[in-house]
Amino acid sequence: MSKTIQAIRGMNDILPTQTAQWQYFEGVIKQVLQNYGFHEIRLPLVEKTELFARSIGEVTDIVEKEMYTFSDRPDKHDNAESLSLRPEGTASCVRAGIQNNLFYGQVQRLWYSGPMFRRERPQKGRYRQFHQIGAEVFGLEGADIDAEVILMTARFWKVLGLKNLELQLNSLGSNAARANYREVLVKYLTEHQDILDEDSQRRLTSNPLRILDSKNPDMQDMIAQAPKLLDYLDDESKAHFEQLQSLLTANGIEFVVNPRLVRGLDYYNRTVFEWVTTELGAQGTVCAGGRYDGLVEQIGGKPVTGLGFAMGVERLLSLLEQYDLLPQADAPHIYLMTMGDKALQQGMQLAESLRDALPDLRLLLHCGGGSFKSQFKKADKSGAQLALVLGDEEVENKQVAVKFLREDKPQQTLNHQELEALLKTIIA
Ligand code: ATP
Ligand code: MG
Repeated sequence: MSKTIQAIRGMNDILPTQTAQWQYFEGVIKQVLQNYGFHEIRLPLVEKTELFARSIGEVTDIVEKEMYTFSDRPDKHDNAESLSLRPEGTASCVRAGIQNNLFYGQVQRLWYSGPMFRRERPQKGRYRQFHQIGAEVFGLEGADIDAEVILMTARFWKVLGLKNLELQLNSLGSNAARANYREVLVKYLTEHQDILDEDSQRRLTSNPLRILDSKNPDMQDMIAQAPKLLDYLDDESKAHFEQLQSLLTANGIEFVVNPRLVRGLDYYNRTVFEWVTTELGAQGTVCAGGRYDGLVEQIGGKPVTGLGFAMGVERLLSLLEQYDLLPQADAPHIYLMTMGDKALQQGMQLAESLRDALPDLRLLLHCGGGSFKSQFKKADKSGAQLALVLGDEEVENKQVAVKFLREDKPQQTLNHQELEALLKTIIA
């Protein structure tokens, strides 16, 4: 036998035993998105590398070392056709909006879902192909929409039954305020240069705010003592942030202001937020986002403000699993077994007519022959509630024997009409 081929580490199969839970989760989120007037947009998995470099930022973990990048023209040695698997959805969404003229003179509320790709060290809650559901709003500046979007995320958790998620908020202010703060921060960090790790040394000149986002335990004390961006906010951003907080409070949403929350991507300004749990260790952020008023212009469109978030589906599913909040896969209602050619023919017809009559019915027709004994074993294993049995006698009488597999009830022999009536009560 030749050596088996394994999937790439960090790129997981989602198995039939799990898909019911994924579908449930996606269904809940989609419903809530629709409740808030969001429309789905479907985006390519591959984009020009330049799109991500220009939006996410050259000096970010993602663009520096996490992207799957390849040349579309390996025969040519220029960079013009460098392509990347998407590491996130916002950049593509903005690109699509500009290209298809979705933004101007109208507000857009969009959502997307699907796999994202980052070459990270795989571990629990951190994969190389993972899934996000995200939403973006374009064309609104006020804090009202920030609050509306955060309320929607809070509703996701409410509908899913998830408690114990903490909402962390911060404001990154205007570009000018950030530039101001950057100087103060660089001065502080330079004074503590001995504590900075290699990545942070490099970022000191290229992207010092990102140092605040470092997860290196040796730097945490130093980071905690750093000057706070919130103390350097411009007046408009301050008012915006205050309005957001008061709208959230008025709606009963609890939050903590985390002055060190800067997010890993460059495009954010003003509001940033994360929903965090302590249950998943270091991979505790399950949903994250913020405002990116300059991004559309940065990617080459006429200026339009925007904000959005993305949630990590694997992390949320693992949290829901911990709290036992996921449904089990649906077993069939019926396992239909037959013995002999005639019975098979009639059984198949019966199965089809039941599927016509009862669109929600889950019916497994036994295929592959075998004794009734072996068929019963399979019926039991399938998890079906009922076994329907057709042998010579039943075919002769146009009847079917019904055996209750999960209840202690005597077997019944029913005609097709009686059977349909019984099944209606089981599906309901
Ligand atoms: P982290 O700090 O955990 O690396 P991030 O800031 O890189 O997260 P975002 O780019 O904001 O994450 O993505 C939004 C969400 O997507 C995250 O909060 C997380 O739930 C999920 N996510 C990000 N990267 C991964 C990954 N490699 N595997 C699984 N989920 C991920
Ligand atoms: Mg990351």
